[in-house]
Amino acid sequence: MVLLRVHGPRRHAGAVRDTGAVRFIRQRGNELSVQKPAGRRVILSGMRPTGRLHWGNYTGALENWVQLQQEYDCRFMVADWHVLTTALDKAGEINANSREMFLDWLGAGLDPDRSVLFLQSSIKEHAELFLVMSMMISMGRLQRNPTFKEQVRDLNLGGEISFGHLGYPVLQAADILAYRAHAVPVGEDQLPHLELTREMARRFNHLFGEVFPEPEALVTKFARFPGTDGKRMSKSLGNTIEISATPEQIREKIKPAFTDPARLRRSDPGHPEVCGVYMWYQKFLPEAVPQVAEECRSAARGCVDCKKQLAEGAIAHFAPLRERRAAYESNPARLDEIIAAGCDRARCLAAETLATVHDAMGIG
Ligand code: SF4
Repeated sequence: MVLLRVHGPRRHAGAVRDTGAVRFIRQRGNELSVQKPAGRRVILSGMRPTGRLHWGNYTGALENWVQLQQEYDCRFMVADWHVLTTALDKAGEINANSREMFLDWLGAGLDPDRSVLFLQSSIKEHAELFLVMSMMISMGRLQRNPTFKEQVRDLNLGGEISFGHLGYPVLQAADILAYRAHAVPVGEDQLPHLELTREMARRFNHLFGEVFPEPEALVTKFARFPGTDGKRMSKSLGNTIEISATPEQIREKIKPAFTDPARLRRSDPGHPEVCGVYMWYQKFLPEAVPQVAEECRSAARGCVDCKKQLAEGAIAHFAPLRERRAAYESNPARLDEIIAAGCDRARCLAAETLATVHDAMGIG
């Protein structure tokens, strides 16, 4: 059994409350204990539903999530509320995009029987915990968040920053802490946000007792994946290839892709280390990498043929994903069922956390 001690300013005398998975037991003096069955460590992660997922999302997160299911109790969230911070005008597209995201996830191999797949806006406990956590951090600390500063600069927001946008990391903290996650798979760029979550958890625990674990970062290896122009693959740069793309779409997208800019003629020796296609090889056809590097450097291989080979490798890599996705897409009732069941499970877990928070704080 894992024993988590909760200290709080106000307690219900002699309280013993059994909620099934979590059992609250009064211990000595003014302390309350929460006993949980020992289990695997919990992970929470989410994605904003802004359209179909691309290779960068796959290599940077989704593929890793599929593996994490073996080792952790995973909660995966379609973070629809988070879309509102930067794309309020696209609110009408969120539901359709959320559905596409569930399809991409299921196609990629997230298992609804093993992991909790849910929609953030269906779990109102996130909003309540957001309110509580907003008391655990100062405005100044949120304004100093480097990710926020970058967004203000890159999106040209100037003075048009909403309270919700500034509070984005607080909602993110609520998302994570609602499931008392031990770890969060993140790209390096999200580390500052996770640090804010850890600070809020520490602050709460300091004031009200050890309710929340401080979640650790599990940094994903393939955090930066090149797009068709050689820059980081990103929807905003229009350089993506979707994981659900058809074989023909894949071939068409790869044809004009960025290679070694110094290689002007077929006879010029290439520099594979600067070529985006070469990086794709490392992911989709790793067994061919030594030969590709050698033939590129000696100009024995041309870029057109090189891309053709890579395209076929990528098509084969994503074939099982496309098939699984298509099967779910053709059965909307099954998809509805999976989403509803995931949301029910998430709601129960988050409600348990909120009950603990109420007890710890002595409110509610
Ligand atoms: S031959 Fe292949 S690895 Fe070399 S520059 Fe062309 S596409 Fe890139």
